Amino acid sequence: MNNPYVQIRRELHQIPERGFDETKTQGYLLQYIQNLPKEHIELKTWKTGIFLRVQGTAPRKTIGYRADIDGLPITEETGLSFKSLHEGMMHACGHDLHMSIALGILTHFATHPPKDNLLFMFQPAEEGPGGALPMIQTDFFTQWKPDMIIALHIAPEYPVGTIATKPGLLFANTSELFIDLTGLGGHAAYPHQTNDMVVAACSLVTQLQSVVARNVDPLDSAVITIGKITGGTVQNIIAERARLEGTIRTLSVESMKKVKERIEALVQGVEIGYNCKTSIDYGSMYHQVDNDVKLTEEFMRFVTNETNVNLIESKEAMTGEDYGYMIANTPGFMFWLGAESPFGLHHSKLNPNEDAIGVAINTIISYLNFKAN
Ligand SMILES: [Zn+2]
Ligand SMILES: [Zn+2]
Repeated sequence: MNNPYVQIRRELHQIPERGFDETKTQGYLLQYIQNLPKEHIELKTWKTGIFLRVQGTAPRKTIGYRADIDGLPITEETGLSFKSLHEGMMHACGHDLHMSIALGILTHFATHPPKDNLLFMFQPAEEGPGGALPMIQTDFFTQWKPDMIIALHIAPEYPVGTIATKPGLLFANTSELFIDLTGLGGHAAYPHQTNDMVVAACSLVTQLQSVVARNVDPLDSAVITIGKITGGTVQNIIAERARLEGTIRTLSVESMKKVKERIEALVQGVEIGYNCKTSIDYGSMYHQVDNDVKLTEEFMRFVTNETNVNLIESKEAMTGEDYGYMIANTPGFMFWLGAESPFGLHHSKLNPNEDAIGVAINTIISYLNFKAN
């Protein structure tokens, strides 16, 4: 382990924090940045995140680089010597690697500034409630507005030494879905005096299956998953309340809108049919990650021709990423960084191969040298 960024990743791995609660993480990053030469950098903190600009020597444009910094409420089961010190929290999505990679790139350019400006964005709360959208709504972002933005995400399914991406849509539109049903509970033996919310909830779950099957163009794609149902109190009392918790994924903004309209209509139908009250909460929503075609194709050619990294053209995925907001109105792209691990993202045993850190730092430094000089 002679790559210092591996050690940095391990230290960050030990202090995972929830979205907008990343105070130790922000402190760690600020302390590291404190030791960099200051001539070319300007820094602004925003909540638990950081904007950092490397001033170019003859700037014509600004290139943004985004790294997310939050962990997940998962109890780590890797058994690693540097496992999480925060009970019940884990960097199970690789954001510890994302940060160490960003610091590696930043360190290089803080000492060797390119012609153009670089804007590093350490973004809180990717896993929820979402930091990308409020971050781009700040004055800092407007003032230092990048002309293009790039970001990566580790991919356990690809070997180290590979990068995977595609022009156009990479990640789906996602939305959480919470539906509450409230009726009249009562004695199990007097159903005629009640409105049973367990029965109403079960019926609704079944009806929701028709939305994807019957309302979405078969050549488009959508997912509605109800992952959790709660309702009632004990076995012999008819339930007064029930709650469905799920997620919606679509490959287009239009089908997200349509799916929600259909869900609302079905929920309204249950309200009438079962004589109950309902409410829908969409929780946090993420915009699709739509890679800029020209920039992504150029990046793919660059990786193929100028590096020894193996490029894979990936397919779009039904996962969500709030980075989509960052490149909704600014050209940019995201790519998968191969970090082979038998366990996937958000798994309590996720153990990415740390060699991916060096691969990413080298590749992005050379890409930014190509784009910013
Ligand atoms: Zn994640
Ligand atoms: Zn992630």
